[in-house]
Amino acid sequence: MPRGISPRRPAKTGRHEGARAVPRARLVPSPAGGRDLRPVQPGRSLPGKTTATVTRSKYNPVAQERVSEILKRLDQLYPGVTCALTHRNAWELLVATILSAQSTDVRVNMVTPEIFKKYPTVQDFAALKPEQLEPDIRSTGFFRNKSKSVVGAAKKIVSDFGGEVPSEMDQLLTLPGVARKTANVVLGTWFKKNEGVVVDTHVYRISRRLELTRHDDPKKIEQDLMKIIPREKWTDFAHQVIWHGRKLCIARRPNCADCLLENICHAADKTWSTVETHKSAKP
Ligand code: SF4
Repeated sequence: MPRGISPRRPAKTGRHEGARAVPRARLVPSPAGGRDLRPVQPGRSLPGKTTATVTRSKYNPVAQERVSEILKRLDQLYPGVTCALTHRNAWELLVATILSAQSTDVRVNMVTPEIFKKYPTVQDFAALKPEQLEPDIRSTGFFRNKSKSVVGAAKKIVSDFGGEVPSEMDQLLTLPGVARKTANVVLGTWFKKNEGVVVDTHVYRISRRLELTRHDDPKKIEQDLMKIIPREKWTDFAHQVIWHGRKLCIARRPNCADCLLENICHAADKTWSTVETHKSAKP
């Protein structure tokens, strides 16, 4: 982008400053639904309607048509994406996911090859005291709790599951340090089971910006997403949204001008907009 030129902020009215005003009677709901309006070509009217009869339909952010359009565009933006945590088996993925809390995948990927070289099997971890692991994972943050979780999970896997990471949600949830988010990562990525939707910080923020949920509790957000997204897409959707959150829809200043979802997104904190913004669509 040339120096001195930056995307314009959306006007409070939701219309982007300098955009050509289109008379309301000439606006029709977009195929993606609701209050998202698109201009009618000059001199053309809707089949069977005069422009005078064009009215706004009630906006439903989770209308099937809109959700399908969001999924389609995410597929276009991020085809075939998967988990960014380096792993060779379910145990390594489980450890990496536990370490990734409040850390970055890049940082975790720097740490895990070293610890798996030092302790190659789940039995090696089970034989440790948490304090012995702490120095190796210190740089990922919250290392005392994480050490307890990793060593505790290893002990339980060895004692209760024959040394194999369980592939059922209820069994995974019995492991220390494993909640639904971690279990969903392991089930979806390694076991290819769509048992839920991973709700991490990116999925939390973007689901709210896109008005796919109004909740702020990750468990309730997951339930909302499971209702509107086809089950076979649960894992892919989470991976795609996580990538979107890293690349474009970042927390502080989303790059809306380059976003393929722009004209169906009404987030209150958009940095550029061609559609109305909604006060309630907050990250
Ligand atoms: S338009 Fe902006 S706020 Fe909406 S999804 Fe894209 S980057 Fe995020």
